[in-house]
Amino acid sequence: MKLANLGGRAVIVTTGGVIDLETASHGRFPAHPDSALTLIPEIRDWLATARPAPDTSTTLIDLAADATRLGPPVTAPGQIFAIGLNYRAHGTETGLGVPDAPLVFTKFPSSVAGPAEDIPLPTTTCDWEIELVVVLARGGRDIPAHKALDHVAGFCVGQDISERTGQLAGTPPQFSLAKSHRAFSPIGPWITTLDELDDPTDLTLTCTLDNETVQSGRTRDLVFDIPALISHLSGVVELRPGDLLFTGTPCGVGFSRAPARYLSPGNVLRSTIEGLGTLANTCV
Ligand code: ZN
Repeated sequence: MKLANLGGRAVIVTTGGVIDLETASHGRFPAHPDSALTLIPEIRDWLATARPAPDTSTTLIDLAADATRLGPPVTAPGQIFAIGLNYRAHGTETGLGVPDAPLVFTKFPSSVAGPAEDIPLPTTTCDWEIELVVVLARGGRDIPAHKALDHVAGFCVGQDISERTGQLAGTPPQFSLAKSHRAFSPIGPWITTLDELDDPTDLTLTCTLDNETVQSGRTRDLVFDIPALISHLSGVVELRPGDLLFTGTPCGVGFSRAPARYLSPGNVLRSTIEGLGTLANTCV
C-alpha cells in the first residue's frame, strides 16, 4: 500500500487511481495524512473487503511523473532522528570512519518538505544526502530489535540536505541546525508499506544532480540496520507515531569530493529508492 498526501488529504495511490481515505470510507478514516498513517492495518483490511473504486483521473503513473501536488506524507513529525556515518564507504570518504554506536542527531521538524518542493539554498555550500526514511506507525520505549518492524508504517525516500559551512564551523562540529533550514528534509513521494517490497533490507538508492548520478548505494550496507536503530533509540527516548528516522547516506556526497561540489540554484536533485519512488526537488 502506498499512502500519500494529495493536496493535504490522505490518499491511497494505486496504478488505477487514487482513493481518498475519508471520502471513500464515509468518514471511518481521517482525512489528515498524519492521522491515517497510524491506522495502516485497519486501512488494509478495509481495502480488501470494501474494495473502494479509485478516482481514475489521477494515477500512480501521473503522480510519479509529477509529484508537485503531493505534500510530505508526514506533515508534522513529532521527532525526526537522523543517523550519521551509517554506510562504511561514506565514513571512508569523509575521513571519519564509522562509529561504534549509532551517531544520532535531529533534523528539526519545520524542515520537512514535499517530494517536489523547491529547496532554497541559504549558502553556496549546501550538499545532498539521499537516505531511506523510516516512518513509525506505533511508538514505544525499549522496543526489542526483533519486534522493531512491527512499529513501522513504511518507508519513504528522503534527502538530508546539509549546509556544510554551518555544520563544520565548530569543534566539534554540530549537525542538527545546519541540516534544518527551510525545505532541507524533503520526503516522499509516499509511504510504501513493507509488504510491497521484495526485500526491505536491500534496496538500491540513487541520487542524480541534473541527470548525473552522484550517489549510488544499497541499504544492505547500513552499518546499523533499521531494527538495531529503533531498538537503540527507543532505549533512550519514547518513540511516537509519525516519527521519522533518516537512516544515513551512502557515499558520493559533494563536500568529500576534490574539489568539493555543492548545490546551485537551478539544479534538479532526483532521489530514487527501489520500490519507494522518486523525489524531484529544484534548488532555488
Ligand atoms: Zn545524513
